Amino acid sequence: MACNMKNLVYYLDKPGGSFTPVEEDLPNPGPGEIMVRTRRTAVCQSDVVIHKQGLARIRQWPAIILHEACCQVEAVGTGVTAFAPGDLIGLGCDIPCPDRHCMYCGENGTGDWTSCPQTHATGHEFPGFARSHAILPDWFVQRGPIVKFHPEIAPDHACQLEPLACCLEGLTRVNNCIEKRVVVLIGSGSQSTYALQCALAMNARKVILINRGAERLERVLRDFADPRVLGLRWDDQIVSRVFEECRPFNEPHFVMVTAPCAPAYELAVQVLGYGTVLDGHAGVKGASGKPRIAQTVDLNNDIHYKLQCYQATHGSSMHGIRRAHALINEKRLPRLDCMTNATERFHHSQIQEALARSADSDSLKVIIHWD
Ligand SMILES: [Zn+2]
Ligand SMILES: [Zn+2]
Repeated sequence: MACNMKNLVYYLDKPGGSFTPVEEDLPNPGPGEIMVRTRRTAVCQSDVVIHKQGLARIRQWPAIILHEACCQVEAVGTGVTAFAPGDLIGLGCDIPCPDRHCMYCGENGTGDWTSCPQTHATGHEFPGFARSHAILPDWFVQRGPIVKFHPEIAPDHACQLEPLACCLEGLTRVNNCIEKRVVVLIGSGSQSTYALQCALAMNARKVILINRGAERLERVLRDFADPRVLGLRWDDQIVSRVFEECRPFNEPHFVMVTAPCAPAYELAVQVLGYGTVLDGHAGVKGASGKPRIAQTVDLNNDIHYKLQCYQATHGSSMHGIRRAHALINEKRLPRLDCMTNATERFHHSQIQEALARSADSDSLKVIIHWD
């Protein structure tokens, strides 16, 4: 049946290069495998970086990038019972390594895939979804980050599973720091805007959004307006204004750094108070590598007596994927469509244009259509 089927694959020839569409034969799924058809891919900022300058983890060029995807199951191999043709599925980016005995990724592992020395990710070691179809191998089908959506969930929402999962890893790594509490988000890009929506869905008392540039901050405040959301321009009064806005509390309960720059970290530590959890969510990387951002911590007065917590999250595990799946599937993110406006939608023949739009300073989430 599938023996005459073709797969349209867009290969990125080299860092800074261009995409070439290639038609390849598409085999039937083998035992334990599933064949999926790509419905939507969303563009991650990491795709923009890979496209511009490559990534050490991608060893093979030409490469198939794009890792935020939702797909429809087209055919299943013998022995597959968890999925059936017609299922709408969403996929995570970080995936288990193929070793089923791995202490991190295996059947009895911790599930901390991003800690595995052989860590795998879609669009890096595993080919991404810049292709019309994919065959997912048996280990991916059994242990990978695949979730099935309710048939009435829009593919435009399902394809945002992965970035939402990353953000939810940060919001939920420590229990009880969002509900009824004050959340500060430094930066107003897509991860921050996902965090804003999730924090509201998780019943945060107040969300304070801090950004340098006015353009994107205004877009987020307009499209995601809520009585509990407040935007602050990042000026030299910012620290005292954050503390003022936390009243009747003295300080925020959760501070997330989503802007990938040293000043964002330097600001974050200045607004910590009693019981604050700091999530270093955006790494800082420049042309000369990853700079040291030094901070003196008083382990007794700040950590012990003030119960402060320093944490970081990047990537996602099944924990974040399950939470993101629940929020999308239960339609608890009513503004999700505002992440993508008409200028942020592209056909799969325009991957290059989609990546360029994603790099714009006012852009939130670019979606590529494959139907
Ligand atoms: Zn991503
Ligand atoms: Zn592993």
